[in-house]
Order: sequence, then structure tokens, then C-alpha cells
Amino acid sequence: MESFPPSKMMLRYVPPLTFLKCTSCGTENSRTFKEEDYVFKKTNEVCPKCGNNELLIVGIYVKEREKKA
Ligand SMILES: [Zn+2]
Repeated sequence: MESFPPSKMMLRYVPPLTFLKCTSCGTENSRTFKEEDYVFKKTNEVCPKCGNNELLIVGIYVKEREKKA
């Protein structure tokens, strides 16, 4: 377990996004990160395209905050 400086985390925290790929048709989807997510985990979520209920987590990303011009 790594620890991060709490003040920095608080300031920069934005909900991460989880990217999932259908193991059947390869369609990629993204949704809000859930606590039990990790990369290469197979979930039983349903593919919106082909209805397959096995999606592989291919990435978890933290969205950058929108730049202030
Ligand atoms: Zn699919």
C-alpha cells in the first residue's frame, strides 16, 4: 500500500474512470470507477453491443481537470 500526501489527494481528487473491453466483440466502454476494480479483472457487466456478460477491465484512468483558460 502506498500512501499519498493527503492534502494533495484532496485537492486533485476526481473520480477515476474504468475502461472495459468486451471479451466477445471487443467493444470498449467506460464508466465510473468502483472500489473493487482492477486492471485485467473480468466483470459480469453486460456489453451494450452484443449482450455478452463478460467485460475485461483494460484500464483505469484519472481524468484531468478541465483546464482553466
Ligand atoms: Zn460485446
